[in-house]
Amino acid sequence: MRDGPLLRAAKRVALWNFRVEVGLHRAWRRARGERPWPLGGGCQRSGGCCEAPTIAVGRLVWSMPRVRQLFLAWQKHVNGFELVREDGQGQALVFNCTHFDRATRSCDSFDSRPGMCRDYPQVLLWQPRPEFLPGCGYRALTPNAAGLRKALDRLDLTPEQREKLRKGLRLDED
Ligand code: SF4
Repeated sequence: MRDGPLLRAAKRVALWNFRVEVGLHRAWRRARGERPWPLGGGCQRSGGCCEAPTIAVGRLVWSMPRVRQLFLAWQKHVNGFELVREDGQGQALVFNCTHFDRATRSCDSFDSRPGMCRDYPQVLLWQPRPEFLPGCGYRALTPNAAGLRKALDRLDLTPEQREKLRKGLRLDED
């Protein structure tokens, strides 16, 4: 159901909090010398990222029942995210989004969607090897792909070896 004025206001406050938190975290990672992959492509409106929104949570939410309860209540009543399952490996919670219309592949509250929906797929670009959802039009580009392609061309390799390296290093994706 489309967000009313109260939910829109609550989500606006949460959005600012999200932006500050994420901004600080990424600034810290940059200060440590980490860099995100450059982003290529564009949104194809596949809606794949709305199929099963997943939130990696900290230790407090993961292991303290009362904190988790509060977190889940916020997700359900404010964001419209209903818990489907836990992903123990990634310490993440997987949800069903009640705003997502599977028939039209659209969000009924796009203007007030949470920060994580607005941020996607930036979050993937900080992973060692970003994997995009099937049907997603975005992709991670290899920095200086053209220079690396030239360097590979200078090496004494068979066409198969060169192809394998180009694919492994994602050199054809810019
Ligand atoms: S709130 Fe909207 S953008 Fe976010 S997961 Fe749900 S349907 Fe998608």
